[in-house]
Amino acid sequence: MAQNVPLNLFTVKSPLAAEVIENKRLTALSRGPKNDVRHLTLRYKEKYAYLPGQSAGILPPATDPVTGKPHKLRLYSVASESAGDAGDGQTVSLCVVRHFWDNSVTGEKNIPGVCSNYLCDVKVGDSVSMTGPSGRHFIIPEDFKHRDFIFVATGTGIAPYRGMLKELFDRGYEGNAALYFGVQYGDVILYDDEFEAYRKHKNFSYFKAISREQANPFPGEVPTRNNKMYVQAKMYVSREALAESLKKPDSMMYLCGLKGMEEGIFPVLEKIGQSLGTQDSFVAKLKAEQRLKVEVY
Ligand code: NAP
Repeated sequence: MAQNVPLNLFTVKSPLAAEVIENKRLTALSRGPKNDVRHLTLRYKEKYAYLPGQSAGILPPATDPVTGKPHKLRLYSVASESAGDAGDGQTVSLCVVRHFWDNSVTGEKNIPGVCSNYLCDVKVGDSVSMTGPSGRHFIIPEDFKHRDFIFVATGTGIAPYRGMLKELFDRGYEGNAALYFGVQYGDVILYDDEFEAYRKHKNFSYFKAISREQANPFPGEVPTRNNKMYVQAKMYVSREALAESLKKPDSMMYLCGLKGMEEGIFPVLEKIGQSLGTQDSFVAKLKAEQRLKVEVY
């Protein structure tokens, strides 16, 4: 899957014009703007080849009022398989949450993020300027067929796994894949119906950590903020199955989502490493063997 990795086919100086063909809200309308997550599909005429695990650059229109220069590009993980949602190689999909930030210098709060709000508000038929694709460290290895994969996501960090899982199962995957997905509420589980449908594959398991509706059953062993159910607690519950996969020398783990999520997950990995008799850091071993990939921001 990963042999010929397309990179930087389009740049800031020479971007790709893509047309919005879909902007679908993935979460319950009753949830506020901070839980407004969109599945966007963009169609283009030129060839924008990409692999799941790569990112697409988006150039927001208008200028930055502070610098007076055009806004910088923002990267979003591709959320579709390489053939795209339409299957014709002419679309890419993104998963975008409406972002708000606080300015610690001015004290201003809940400032709408430039690019995420732009993308959440685009209409079908609008044109979007794109760069990329970029990144190669998060893609699935070409010899994927019999490897075990553990995918861990928080929130919109689910984006790359949507395409990866589709691609794996479309291509006759025979290893074991486990997906751990952390979200705040049961009605904001992104792409839940798609992941539920993969349960028909006996080699797929799917665990949801719903932080504001479930409690952490192991707060002593795996501390989480306010004893919430986070992905690391779900991982601890199924630590024996994880150990079975992680003891295989070609198994791989991917973490994607909120910056800081790895800090709660690594201690669980160390516990699993100890159960496997690893003397030194299991996380360091997995990283050194290129078996642990982290994309958080
Ligand atoms: P979110 O809804 O704020 O959080 C998702 C879940 O993670 C919630 O259940 C949250 O629990 C939980 N959580 C919070 N802190 C955690 C921790 N330390 N360890 C484990 N779980 C934790 O997520 P989001 O707003 O979608 O943000 C996702 C992040 O992914 C963003 O930073 C985004 O930049 C990044 N990302 C996005 C893409 C993309 O393509 N869109 C790709 C890669 C990464 P509580 O809120 O209840 O505490």
